[in-house]
Amino acid sequence: MALSIPSRSKINLYLKVLKRRPDRYHELETLFLPLDTPADRVTLDFVDTPGIRVCSSLAGLPENLENLAGRAALAYADMAGIAPAWSIRIEKEIPVAAGMGGGSSNAAAVLRLLNRHYGKLSSEELADLALTLGADVPFFLHGRAAIATGIGEVFHYPAGKLYAPPLLVVNPQFPVSAKWAYMNLDPEQIGEDSSGKLKRLINALRRNDPKGVADNLHNDLAAALYRKFPLLAILRDFLLENGALNAEITGSGPSIFAVCASPAERDELCRSLAGAFRAVTIFVN
Ligand code: ATP
Repeated sequence: MALSIPSRSKINLYLKVLKRRPDRYHELETLFLPLDTPADRVTLDFVDTPGIRVCSSLAGLPENLENLAGRAALAYADMAGIAPAWSIRIEKEIPVAAGMGGGSSNAAAVLRLLNRHYGKLSSEELADLALTLGADVPFFLHGRAAIATGIGEVFHYPAGKLYAPPLLVVNPQFPVSAKWAYMNLDPEQIGEDSSGKLKRLINALRRNDPKGVADNLHNDLAAALYRKFPLLAILRDFLLENGALNAEITGSGPSIFAVCASPAERDELCRSLAGAFRAVTIFVN
């Protein structure tokens, strides 16, 4: 028997680092937006052979218990007291080490599939388990647009419907480790934000106002990434000069997303971008 679900990606429309903790984690205030594109597909097979096996469609991705999806399965087995006999297959579309949460999303997908089948853990227990695997994993258990605080595990779901603006995401096809991005964060940027951007961002999402969203994007990790990788600044400038209302790096990068005024303008921007840059991957949402 096999169970299968999509494993979506995310962008951070807003990411403020509030504090560096002694354990090297960072306290954040961030706004996660789930994306349908790109998404991986995670399939869980119940097999006869004891153990946990993980394989993926992407060469070079860690397999078995080195893979975050395998670690999630092992953690679930331990906490739920189950002897595992599972094979996990990941069809990979989300670029790796891209700031789009691919590994975290895969881990959450495994936890959801296992708990759907076994039903051993409460949603609180599942969320606690998710956090032991990584700061972004709890978000993907629900995958709804959310403000996260703490190290990314305390959620606030804004009331009312939120309308995602037309956007595209550009991945420059090289990885950046989240560790590098956080280590190179400008220390003077760390701290509370009194600009009210996050509030305005939420209001703009409620009003279905792409310009209001575009005007209030923020990422504390971006400055160091633009400095280290000049291609990212070139890409951002191209997006701004070719119709984007605004563009910013998502999470720890290096993917950049552009917010557009309409689907037609987004599609036009997509065509210009594909014509001008060969070695990038573009995702349209
Ligand atoms: P985040 O936005 O959560 O920091 P990311 O998109 O920057 O995520 P990932 O794609 O999750 O980063 O990958 C980070 C590292 O985790 C890579 O070095 C990769 O080899 C490893 N990894 C382990 N399992 C997976 C998985 N299932 N998918 C992607 N990467 C994985």
